[in-house]
Amino acid sequence: MQPAEKPENNTVIEKNMKEIVALCKRRGFIFQASDIYGGINGFWDYGPLGTELKNNLRDMWWKRMVLCPPIGPDGHPVQIVGLDSAIIQNPKVWVASGHVGGFSDPMVDCKETKKRYRADHLFFLREINDLNKIVCFVDGTEEDEQRKKLKKLGWSQDLTVYKKATILDSVIQHDLTTKVVGPDATKPGTLTEPKAFNLLFETKIGAVASDDNIAYLRGETAQGIFVNYKNVMDSSRVKVPFGIAQVGKAFRNEVNPRNFIFRSREFEQMEMEFFCHPSEAKMWFDFWKEERKKFWQDLGLTTGNLLMREHGADELVFYSKGTFDIEYKFPFTDPGFGELEGIAYRTNYDLNQHQEHSGQKLDYIDPERNNERYIPHVIEPAAGLTRGVLALLCEAFTPDPGRPSGVYLNFHPSMAPKKAAILPLTAKDGQPEIAEKLYMELREEFPVDLDIKQNIGKRYARQDEIGTPFCFTIDNQTVADQTVTVRERNTMAQERIHLSQVGDYLRRKIKI
Ligand code: ATP
Repeated sequence: MQPAEKPENNTVIEKNMKEIVALCKRRGFIFQASDIYGGINGFWDYGPLGTELKNNLRDMWWKRMVLCPPIGPDGHPVQIVGLDSAIIQNPKVWVASGHVGGFSDPMVDCKETKKRYRADHLFFLREINDLNKIVCFVDGTEEDEQRKKLKKLGWSQDLTVYKKATILDSVIQHDLTTKVVGPDATKPGTLTEPKAFNLLFETKIGAVASDDNIAYLRGETAQGIFVNYKNVMDSSRVKVPFGIAQVGKAFRNEVNPRNFIFRSREFEQMEMEFFCHPSEAKMWFDFWKEERKKFWQDLGLTTGNLLMREHGADELVFYSKGTFDIEYKFPFTDPGFGELEGIAYRTNYDLNQHQEHSGQKLDYIDPERNNERYIPHVIEPAAGLTRGVLALLCEAFTPDPGRPSGVYLNFHPSMAPKKAAILPLTAKDGQPEIAEKLYMELREEFPVDLDIKQNIGKRYARQDEIGTPFCFTIDNQTVADQTVTVRERNTMAQERIHLSQVGDYLRRKIKI
């Protein structure tokens, strides 16, 4: 869901986001895709550290879902198995799921500028003294820009009535085509009524490029799970209630990709479909809501930056009996929030649809309930791996004029791409040898950096900027008594520990 509120002070926030994006590029977290060709809108590449960060988040999710799932409300560990389904499936999958017919956003075109906007991303300002004057902006427009535009249109400079467009609002729909000045337009009446625009990327399979060979890149990982429900049931020993989890790429031809990786055209999801008896669905829905919130909190997202938002009746898809979004206060949504994960009670809609369209029986005969036959209901926690990475980066980004780097990334140690750096104070006196030995011991278990060159301040600065939680410094005393200094990233406090304790120290600190 889109952030509902406008930033109060766009300049400061925008600066932060620019700094975050710049740091991501400078230190090798995230690059524009095809950078040397000028990029390609909505696509991003992950550099050496970004890849590690993303893998850490993915692996932690996998661990908490599949390898070591939580204890359920019945006191037993929840059963969840993993899956890795193809990105391209039979196109009938997407017809059954409703994506071919309905996976669309209402779009508004501008006849003057030929630009296209997502209707729910527009908001409106109405002149207070003249209700016929309405001007429209894209969500996220800086206040300065808004003021400039209003001035050009000869408006009073008061930002008068502010309204987020719910395109269902009939007044706005009518006004759109008559009175409203579009986001980049100069005169009113150039916007069209909203039209549906399908988000699935199309491709053609095989040598002959005909319409009979159309296939789609998956718009979500979830459908791969539903269409394998029967295979998993038939081949493994799972019993309802159980879950199937999948992490992978999803593709949406977003009309306005923006806010760095927040809205990308190619992104990654971490989705789990939890199948249960209809009478227990509410209990599992409540359970997963709490578990998923806890997951993000455990990774360091602070309570004030996280929000559980329940979908209103007008937002719910018709088959859902309830949906909560876990939202995060990103710098570009602040003081509002943007969706990080959705937890939906989807009833048995998806399995029903696939049963109908495939002709295969997808009901379950429940041995625990006198062989009752039913199509399980589903609770779906659907998280964005891409948005998760962005939330971790935004949360971690901590300006600190008091240190040489001016900023550090305050990652939870479990998420940090590098867990520690080993830094001999000088490149002589036996120090590099000790450092190398320690490095060879630690690297088997932890991603660690060995950095021998440059002055120590510069080396600390680099580690601060990439969010390395611990630096082990080797000095003359190490040579004498086998102790090293541990420098903790956030506090910069130092303590000495014995070389033989370093592994244990890291193991303890990294654990959540
Ligand atoms: P939005 O309203 O922001 O378009 P959505 O409600 O359509 O998102 P879902 O279909 O519920 O999203 O997908 C589950 C998760 O996938 C979202 O919570 C989000 O983290 C992630 N996601 C969806 N679209 C994108 C995108 N274009 N770029 C990055 N992540 C995305």
